Amino acid sequence: MSPVLERFLRYVQYDTQSNEASTTYPSTPGQLVLLNDLAAELRSLGAGDVTVDEHGYVTATVPATSTHVPTIGFIAHVDTSPEMPGAGVRPIVHRRYDGTDIALPDDGSVVLRAAEIPALAERIGDDIVTASGTTLLGADNKAGVAEIVTAVEYLLAHPHIPHGDIRIAFTPDEEVGRGTLHFDVAAFRAQYAYTVDGGSRGELEYESFSADAVTVTFHGFNTHPGYAKGRMLNAIKAAAAFIDLLPPDTMSPETTERYEGFIHPYTMQAGVDRTSVRLIVRDFVTPALQDKERLLATLAERAASRFPGLRTDLAIQEQYRNMREVLDRHPQVVDCAREAMRRLGVTVRERPIRGGTDGSRLSFMGLPTPNIFAGEQNFHSRQEWISVQDMDKAVEVIVTLAQVWADHARPLPGGGKR
Ligand SMILES: [Zn+2]
Repeated sequence: MSPVLERFLRYVQYDTQSNEASTTYPSTPGQLVLLNDLAAELRSLGAGDVTVDEHGYVTATVPATSTHVPTIGFIAHVDTSPEMPGAGVRPIVHRRYDGTDIALPDDGSVVLRAAEIPALAERIGDDIVTASGTTLLGADNKAGVAEIVTAVEYLLAHPHIPHGDIRIAFTPDEEVGRGTLHFDVAAFRAQYAYTVDGGSRGELEYESFSADAVTVTFHGFNTHPGYAKGRMLNAIKAAAAFIDLLPPDTMSPETTERYEGFIHPYTMQAGVDRTSVRLIVRDFVTPALQDKERLLATLAERAASRFPGLRTDLAIQEQYRNMREVLDRHPQVVDCAREAMRRLGVTVRERPIRGGTDGSRLSFMGLPTPNIFAGEQNFHSRQEWISVQDMDKAVEVIVTLAQVWADHARPLPGGGKR
């Protein structure tokens, strides 16, 4: 069995589902079990400085075999999505997948069909891993974890491969948006990093949304409805008018794709006296995000003005920013990833992420961090699957990427640099 597959099958059997409602860190104890076991495994492989900090973050070093090479990091998260059961995962390996329907044994209604899943049709002939029908698989992001540990093992066993210090981090609670909450960038001591948490072979992601949360509140006036004439100001009606003023055919999740941003009201707390609408605002361009917020302020005022005396206010909370704003200043980070894939004959697929990653936040915390593929498919779903050959390729990309950085750092004969 390929070493990355052996590890992957082992890791997915840990229940590491994270929980948004929890107030502990990590949010669930199961994550700590895997994190501690990963630290022990890294130690047994001979990795250096293996630590589990007070928040559960595991870090380790593959010591440099070459001098003057920047320190780069590889990062993956151990938690799985709260949206789908993650306990009792029973992984199934479908050897040399022949393109026929894959019905999962524990729930016959869950069927993977190559005709409906283009990425699966692309991997006919590969060994495909699925769950058994009642849980997610957890390839997001245990594939990345297995690939990084396997690359560590390979680099330690092949010290003739030139590379700088390689830093490793395994993190909790990415799926509940807290993956970088306690990430100590200074202690990590890497100049650049990569999250290994992407989809199809060749994916390289270095643009994410810029994201804010906005709360629009309408302050009305409540009184006994039998004696309210000329006095009551119904905040629910003002909020409804506001929602109705949002652009109906543009700027919503259901009408946008690729580089288009949106405004998305997703929850409301309603009362006559006071109604608040919570929205998320997304755009790839931060000033365009701010334009959308100005539009929201204008529409809120317009809605409130229909109810003389009713007041509205708007609060903006920054969530994350497009990592490209940082990565454009460090083009070598994405260039080295492209080169590593090209050396391996992998077709590079670059596309914007219509969301954020831990790398979006890390980039703005001082650690430029694009995302590279791990092979994850249909994540957060009972139809989640992954190709073993994609996992093997991701291991090769990690090893080659370490080497590309060393090749670029090494002075050429004559003193020039490549
Ligand atoms: Zn993930």
